[in-house]
Amino acid sequence: KNVDVLNDAQVQELVQKNIIMTSLESVFNWARGNSFWPLSSGLACCAIEMMASAGPRFDIARFGYEVFRPSVRQADCIIIAGTVTWKMAPALVRLYEQMPEPKWILAMGSCACTGGPFVDSYAVVPGVDKILPVDVYIPGCPPRPEALIDGFLKLKEKVQNPTKVGLKHGN
Ligand code: SF4
Repeated sequence: KNVDVLNDAQVQELVQKNIIMTSLESVFNWARGNSFWPLSSGLACCAIEMMASAGPRFDIARFGYEVFRPSVRQADCIIIAGTVTWKMAPALVRLYEQMPEPKWILAMGSCACTGGPFVDSYAVVPGVDKILPVDVYIPGCPPRPEALIDGFLKLKEKVQNPTKVGLKHGN
């Protein structure tokens, strides 16, 4: 159609059908929520379930979260999969600090969430949120791969709705 001969209503209709108004940040968050790049790391038994999530049976690639990176420089989230000891804590904090923004943390399993069966041990951090901001908690000992995928979908909701109450970073 020649836009010179369209009336106002037709122009309005064209605009509504062909132009999407949004912010760059919303587009970025939409993309981030569909392509998390987790750090390739594991601390204990929960990591076995994390690895299973990337296999063909559970296929986390269906959601776009399969690109496990060996370097924090290339990752945007850490799955704390296992028991966090006080000896390991400084290394974890350092890894987190080396990651570029924006970045997120999933606490996978009872150990990462609260210390789990080792909560009374002098050597174990009673929940990784004592040293790092956790975005999503995934309970279980260990949580199944489906639970990890569900945790990722919750993180996706959080990232794509940054102003929604209760979904702020670190809450
Ligand atoms: Fe192992 Fe259970 Fe702790 Fe996971 S939550 S690291 S399965 S003891």
